Amino acid sequence: MAQIEGKVAIITGAASGIGRACAIVLAREGACVVATDVDSKGLRDTEKLVSDAGGKIVTLTQDVTDEAVWEEVFTEATETFGTPSVLVNNAGIAIAGGITDFTLDDWRRQMAVNVDSVFLGTRAAMNAMSSGGSIINISSVAGLRGAAGASAYCTSKGAVRLFTKAAAVECAQMGTGIRVNSVHPGIIDTPIWQKSITRMTEVMDEERISALTAHSGANQMDVEAIASQSSPMGRAGRPEEVAELVLFLASDASSYISGQEHVVDGAMTAR
Ligand code: NAD
Repeated sequence: MAQIEGKVAIITGAASGIGRACAIVLAREGACVVATDVDSKGLRDTEKLVSDAGGKIVTLTQDVTDEAVWEEVFTEATETFGTPSVLVNNAGIAIAGGITDFTLDDWRRQMAVNVDSVFLGTRAAMNAMSSGGSIINISSVAGLRGAAGASAYCTSKGAVRLFTKAAAVECAQMGTGIRVNSVHPGIIDTPIWQKSITRMTEVMDEERISALTAHSGANQMDVEAIASQSSPMGRAGRPEEVAELVLFLASDASSYISGQEHVVDGAMTAR
């Protein structure tokens, strides 16, 4: 896809799962990738996968909740490859548990990583993308509908969905040339599920987990079992299947698409 050749793309949460797949797919199509994460070991693995395939990549350690670091990331990206024109706000966590299992600290942590980061990244991008660009915010089907045991996660992803729309309208009206879209994956086979399941078993007993998750299929203890029960396609999605949509939104092929929510969920929300 020549429409992304040479573009500088910052991808957060690129040490694992969907972020890593975005790094691989965008680099495959000729983008210069700036991959960031708190996990520096995972970043090294992503770097090797991309550069072994002949892609251009630089990695930076970044906690997306740290306001000051955002400016450094854009400065480093510009010095290494030139002005960024793609930002994928992908880093995220899923803190599972019933509302009564949640502390205010848990709630604030969920919002900081999933929502504050998207605001900080978008603001930095709007300051830096002098010739326009594309911001892609990874939300979730959990940002479109509710789920028991996921109130904070749903709230955070719903906020990403509407922030995206507001930012898209603002960017268009201000003539910035920046498009802003959200992507809503369904059940994708990445480590986030195991982290979330582990946390749930730490704060809740088995009976409570079953009661909370019985109707969603999420009482199964691995991602394939959850997907086979709740996805019409009967399987979990692969991170690359999300990354191909991100590639389209990052490229000039989507030049008139902004402020929209793009679902990639194997028909899960279609019923
Ligand atoms: P993952 O756990 O494999 O990857 C998330 C990455 O974010 C990790 O590398 C982690 O180190 C990084 N991260 C976490 N906190 C960070 C912080 N403060 N600063 C920088 N990096 C941080 O999970 P994934 O499934 O690839 O998730 C990527 C995004 O996709 C998340 O926003 C997630 O909510 C969203 N999503 C995932 C699914 C799914 O089923 N896997 C579904 C819908 C949405």
